This record gives sequence, structure tokens and C-alpha cells, in this order.
Amino acid sequence: MTRTPLIAGNWKMNTNLGEAEQLALAVVRSADDKLDREVMIAPPFTAMGEVGDILHDSRVILGAQNICWAEKGAFTGEISPSMLKELGGTMAIVGHSERRHIFGETNELINQRLAGAMTNEIIPILCIGEQLAEREAEQTWSILEKQIRGGLAGITIIDPTKVVIAYEPVWAIGTGKTASPEQAQEAHAFIRKLLATIYEKDIASQIRILYGGSVVPDNIDTLMGQDDVDGALVGGAALNSESFERIINFK
Ligand code: PEP
Repeated sequence: MTRTPLIAGNWKMNTNLGEAEQLALAVVRSADDKLDREVMIAPPFTAMGEVGDILHDSRVILGAQNICWAEKGAFTGEISPSMLKELGGTMAIVGHSERRHIFGETNELINQRLAGAMTNEIIPILCIGEQLAEREAEQTWSILEKQIRGGLAGITIIDPTKVVIAYEPVWAIGTGKTASPEQAQEAHAFIRKLLATIYEKDIASQIRILYGGSVVPDNIDTLMGQDDVDGALVGGAALNSESFERIINFK
């Protein structure tokens, strides 16, 4: 089975309501006729309702930038899977490096988020990636392994299309320093091999692994040309409708 490419835009803490609506309309125009690839956008929570309405009759997927495992209760600042689903959301980013490194989220907490999403039929995008000092200290593989094993602890995967991994080297996020296509492929192949030891080989071969970290129109084609790169998680370039359109149109 071939893996359907996924281009995901993470808007982070950007866009007011009007900007979000304009950007969402532009993404629908760019993506709606693309039948061989999926496109997801994750606006800030404040714009999710309006963006959800715009995406409602389109093929563009609404995603959240984070998600809580609990259904309701004393979880100040969080949103639940059913709150997301009410707005039409079907995907959620979990374990983004900004959540890990600015807000101190651990592999254990991220695992709870991922499990909560999957239990509620929301597709999680589990972000993993090493920091520069870790790469320089040759700890990349052990860090990725810890993040994968921690994030997926106790998770059964029956349908491999219902979970997505994003390899995002922290040194490449928002820095303009992209991993080379070879570095991305090496990491993605490592991740897939590791997944094959945790799950069946057949399951691992069908899980999509996105690359994230300074993806721009100029580097998307070579990144997508790598065997194990199944899409991109895009930050900065997802905020510009022309750049994002070019990325969606990767060759
Ligand atoms: C991200 O936010 O996940 C990301 C990869 O950001 P950027 O594309 O700006 O590096």
C-alpha cells in the first residue's frame, strides 16, 4: 500500500481571526482539487471555529496544535478531543518541540495526549527530534528512540493511517537550517526500522513520517524525493499562502 503524502501547516500562535479566515480560504483554493495528497492546517484555538466552517465542505483537514486526553474537567488551558471534534477537527499535533522545550512536556505526558487523541478517533501527529547539542554529542538515535518508545508506549496500532510521526530536528525549526535530504532520509529510515521492531513490519511500512524544520518552496521537492519522507510539517512557510501553495504542489 502506498502512503498518501500529507502536508501539514502549523500556524502556531499567529493570525488574528481575519487573517486566519483569509489564509484558510487560500489553502482551500490551493488544495481542494489535489486528490493524491492530504493537506492539514492547525490554526490557533481562537480561530478554530471559523476556520472549521471554511474547511467544512473541503478536503482540507482541520487539526489542533495540541490536545488533552481528558474529556472535561479541571484542565485549565486545555481543549478536549470532543471540543475539537465539535468544530470538525480530526487531527492533532502532539509533542511539538515548543511544547517539549518551552512548556516542559515530557514523553509521558505526550503519550497521554496521543492515547487520548487515538481513543477519540483523532489522528495524532507525534513530533520527535533532537536538539543541536544532542546531534553534536551523537545522541540523535537514542533521543529519537526514547521519544518514539515513550510517545507510543502502550499504543496498539491497528490502522497505520491513523497515526503520523513528524521528525523535526529542533535545530532546524524556525532557523532557516533545513536538514539535508540525506539527513532527513537517514532519520526517517531509522524511525521506520524502529517502528518495525515495536509493531509489525507491514504496519511500520504504512505509517507516514513527515519531515519538519524550515521547509520552504525551494527544498520541498528534494525532501519529498526521499524514500521515507511522506510529507511535511510546515511552520513559517505555512503562514504565507503562496509559499504554502507551492509546498502543497511539491513534485
Ligand atoms: C514547526 O513549527 O513544526 C516547524 C517545522 O516550523 P518551521 O517550518 O518554521 O521551521
